[in-house]
Order: sequence, then structure tokens, then C-alpha cells
Amino acid sequence: MSLGSTLRDHPHFLEQLYRLTAYVVRKLDPLVARIGYDRANRWLRYPEEWVKRIVFDCRMCGQCVLHSTGMTCPMSCPKNLRNGPCGGVRGNGHCEVIPEMKCVWTEAYERSLKMPVYGQEILWLQPPVNRQLEGTSAWVNMLTGIDREPPPGWQGTTQEIELSVQP
Ligand code: SF4
Repeated sequence: MSLGSTLRDHPHFLEQLYRLTAYVVRKLDPLVARIGYDRANRWLRYPEEWVKRIVFDCRMCGQCVLHSTGMTCPMSCPKNLRNGPCGGVRGNGHCEVIPEMKCVWTEAYERSLKMPVYGQEILWLQPPVNRQLEGTSAWVNMLTGIDREPPPGWQGTTQEIELSVQP
């Protein structure tokens, strides 16, 4: 078992780590603004990718939603689905595209149940991913707010609105 999959099976630890990281990154905003967001993006994208690829198998979409998806990267789904599984999940909870792989969304759901802080966010509706942010630093994009801007033409709800779940 790899280090990443071991860590991903401790979602509560990871959500605490996320909370701390987000806090530190926000505190550094004045410094990052002085450096310049574009320059900071060039500097930070490589260490961010290195860390997050090991821990989350990150694909550097630039719009990180890990805390809303059970600390499971939705871009590691072969179909890049960000709002739950497709209709092809196998009876054993595995992926229809890669049968030996557990469905990313099966894992996301199971892990979200172990996340007291952000677990409920799995019910949020995510806007379409903005492919123009691919390869950029999600940390810097969080500071500029561009990661929360829905792509042009998106008429749906934003992630601020929770879905209601029928019992
Ligand atoms: S959601 Fe995006 S930034 Fe976050 S781990 Fe996945 S690919 Fe990386």
C-alpha cells in the first residue's frame, strides 16, 4: 500500500491538515500579493503538485475541491466527474473503466462519512471545471478567488448552495 493511499484512508487527519493549510495560505495572502499572484503561481505550482500528487494523486486542475469530495481527488476518476459517480459503478463498488480500481466516488463517499468538519460538503453541487486553470496552483487560485468563478455560460447553482437530500 502506498503512502498516499494510507493517508487517504485517514480522511479526518487530512481534513485537519487541509484546514491548517488553508489557514496558513490565507495568512500569507498579503505576502503573496506583494510578490505577485502570477509569479507566486509559477513558484508554487511545482511544490504543490509534488506534495498533492503523492498524497492525493492530484492532476493539478487548479480548482481544488478535495475537502468537498471526501479528500479524494475527483480528477483521478477516469471520467473526471466532479459531482458523484456515473451510472457504471460495478456491484462491488469498482470503476467500469478500470475494473481493478475502486470507484473514486465510492471512496469519496465512504471517506466523507469520517470527516466531521467538511464531510457534509459532498452534497454540494460543483460547477463545471474550468480547464483554463489546469496546471496552475490551486493555493494561489484560492487567494485570487478565480477558483470560485464559474466558467462563462454556467447558469447553474454555485457550490454555496447545498442540495436537499430526501430521506
Ligand atoms: S481537485 Fe484538482 S487541485 Fe485538488 S487534488 Fe484534484 S486535481 Fe489536484
